[in-house]
Amino acid sequence: MAEIDKNAYKGVWVYIEQVDGQARGVGHELLAQGRMLADKLGQELAGVIIGHNVEALAKEVFASGADKVYLVDAPELAHYSTDGYAAVFTDLIQTYKPTAILLGATNDGRDLGPRVSCRVSTGLTADCTGLDIDEKTGLIAWTRPALGGNIMATILCPEHRPQMGTVRPKVFKRPEQDFSRTGEIVRVASKVKAEDIRTKLVDVIRIATASVNLEEAEVIVAGGRGMCTPENFCLIDQLADVLGAAVGASRAAVDAGWKSALNQVGQTGKTVGPKIYFACGISGAIQHLAGMSSSDIIIAINKDPDAPIFKMADYGIVGDVMEVLPILTEEFKKIKA
Ligand code: FAD
Repeated sequence: MAEIDKNAYKGVWVYIEQVDGQARGVGHELLAQGRMLADKLGQELAGVIIGHNVEALAKEVFASGADKVYLVDAPELAHYSTDGYAAVFTDLIQTYKPTAILLGATNDGRDLGPRVSCRVSTGLTADCTGLDIDEKTGLIAWTRPALGGNIMATILCPEHRPQMGTVRPKVFKRPEQDFSRTGEIVRVASKVKAEDIRTKLVDVIRIATASVNLEEAEVIVAGGRGMCTPENFCLIDQLADVLGAAVGASRAAVDAGWKSALNQVGQTGKTVGPKIYFACGISGAIQHLAGMSSSDIIIAINKDPDAPIFKMADYGIVGDVMEVLPILTEEFKKIKA
């Protein structure tokens, strides 16, 4: 492969994933990290917005720290499609040559990122949980769990550009927005035609109800194998109901068929960052902690006083979930009444 002129690549980009004109939270979380990386490199931070009738998002992107927005707005791009968005993104990279690109490790980001990185012949570090600049080389240091979550690996991309990575939602906090900030909007025409997109969106069926909107939830009540039966899991649902919380589950509870994979928190599930996380009958395996350790307050209920979850918890209740959960639900009901 021909050597590339790495000096020609400048600037940090963040992909601003949007659905129906609303930016997903992870875009803002990544703008905060992108700002930190761009400042350390002494380079610009840009947001990439692709969609239709999405120019209004630029204001929010500037408010979250970007200097520039690359905007590709066309009717064919109204909904995410692999063909359309990958073609547009590849074109943007080949024209404007950023040194680094951050995308959310969401369904769309996990589809788009690898495809684009392959088209521009570079590497991508998936599912990162830490970002920095490597002091020796000035490269982006992408950190992610490896070997089943037992070690953290830091990965560099020395030979190719751009350096690309997907980052899990809720690993990083959203920045404080400053709406007095403005920036430059670079409007780029889309070369994608409707016939280039091989998939057609026929219908959108919303299966993610409020109770599984884990990534945005402020309170999560999660249950594990300690709930013992699917019937007992309704104790989790009842507490969540009273608190207006989302319902989470450990992989053991999901594997047992008590909850859908949409509810799974952890390394192979969702990464969450609520204000309060109730871990009920969950032991605290490293793969579960990987998904919820950035919660502000963790409350653990477990009958084993030596369960590892208590090392991470801010408040611990040593007891049987079948007894403790109904008491909590009743008490919270009284407070609400
Ligand atoms: P257990 O470890 O069996 O713990 C059950 C707990 O309930 C125990 O601490 C017990 O004391 C307590 N208990 C039992 N009865 C009661 C009672 N009546 N009242 C109170 N407490 C009680 N796991 C995830 O959760 N998410 C992931 O994304 C994930 N990804 C993984 C990826 C890989 C590659 C691997 C290898 C594993 C992954 N796991 C994941 C599995 C993980 O290692 C654990 O097996 C799992 O988290 C255990 O779930 P648990 O805590 O519900 O069950």
